[in-house]
Amino acid sequence: RPRIFSGMQPTSDSLHLGNYLGALTQWVALQESYDALYCVVDLHALTVGPDPAVLRERTRRTAAQYLAAGVDPARSILFVQSHVAAHSELAWLLSCQTGFGEASRMTQFKDKSTRYGQEGTTVGLFTYPVLMAADILLYDTALVPVGEDQRQHLELTRDLAQRLNARFGAGTAVVPEAHIVKATAKIYDLQEPTAKMSKSAASPNGIIELLDDPKVVAKRIRSAVTDAEREIRYDPEAKPGIANLLTIYSALTGRDVLAIEAEYQGKGYGDLKKDLADVVVDFLTPFQERVHGYLADPASLDDVLADGAERAQELASGMLDRVYDRMGLLPRR
Ligand code: ATP
Ligand code: MG
Repeated sequence: RPRIFSGMQPTSDSLHLGNYLGALTQWVALQESYDALYCVVDLHALTVGPDPAVLRERTRRTAAQYLAAGVDPARSILFVQSHVAAHSELAWLLSCQTGFGEASRMTQFKDKSTRYGQEGTTVGLFTYPVLMAADILLYDTALVPVGEDQRQHLELTRDLAQRLNARFGAGTAVVPEAHIVKATAKIYDLQEPTAKMSKSAASPNGIIELLDDPKVVAKRIRSAVTDAEREIRYDPEAKPGIANLLTIYSALTGRDVLAIEAEYQGKGYGDLKKDLADVVVDFLTPFQERVHGYLADPASLDDVLADGAERAQELASGMLDRVYDRMGLLPRR
């Protein structure tokens, strides 16, 4: 079966609805027909200087949210990036194949480095896309389910795979495809509906965190920024706030956006927001119970992660050895 790889950074206590709808629901669906590896990418989180105790806690919490969403460790490999040293090793090899100019064109680096300033911006933040390419190529991955914001990093990954094959021989790396589901590829911030919902957003008010108090979630939905019209219509250009609410509504209920539009003809924004808040809270309540169940038993959670790391390690070593060899490094004995 073809292979899938994807991951999320433990950069927050909770994943948000963008992570869930843009990526996590796809992960769960795809594990039926692919051999999947789902990773908590803690090495990526180091790029923004987290507190050590907080990082450790968030790594477990992120894994618990994968499980609560339906990632099944009996079918998929669930593990923590730093437990498989090959990620860091391949990242170095790839960084020596990446042009400085090429890396400098990554728009996420430009956005994040503006936020952190000259002093707060690490070299790790700059080389982050190379580590991400290593994560993916290490497992001869065919498909990478991600949100729209990762499209450019995926392109770089593909370029690097093709470069390895051109320089070191066909079959050095598998060239992966992005799997980006258009309808939910970019969930927007409720307060700033032209910016993506992000764990590292400046203000929490526009974010729906999966582990937030349902009362807070309902309040944030009620105060979502919309527009000065009254009509409930899916028009992302003219009405980004309403379009975002309709997207979330549709994704969580499985109902067509047009059907929801039709149902709300003649009703107000307040009605839509109130009903959406109910839909979101009904989804979050059992989800949160499951997460807390996993977190209440950290030893079992760590066992799942240790088992995943062992299986991932086994898959990774073949690709890494192949690249070391083809690049001309002296064989280890
Ligand atoms: P950070 O701000 O720390 O980068 P993030 O919210 O972007 O956090 P990541 O861990 O970087 O989260 O991304 C995890 C996955 O979630 C990726 O596949 C990414 O494309 C997807 N994703 C992130 N934000 C959104 C969003 N607003 N809509 C859809 N998918 C998203
Ligand atoms: Mg991100």
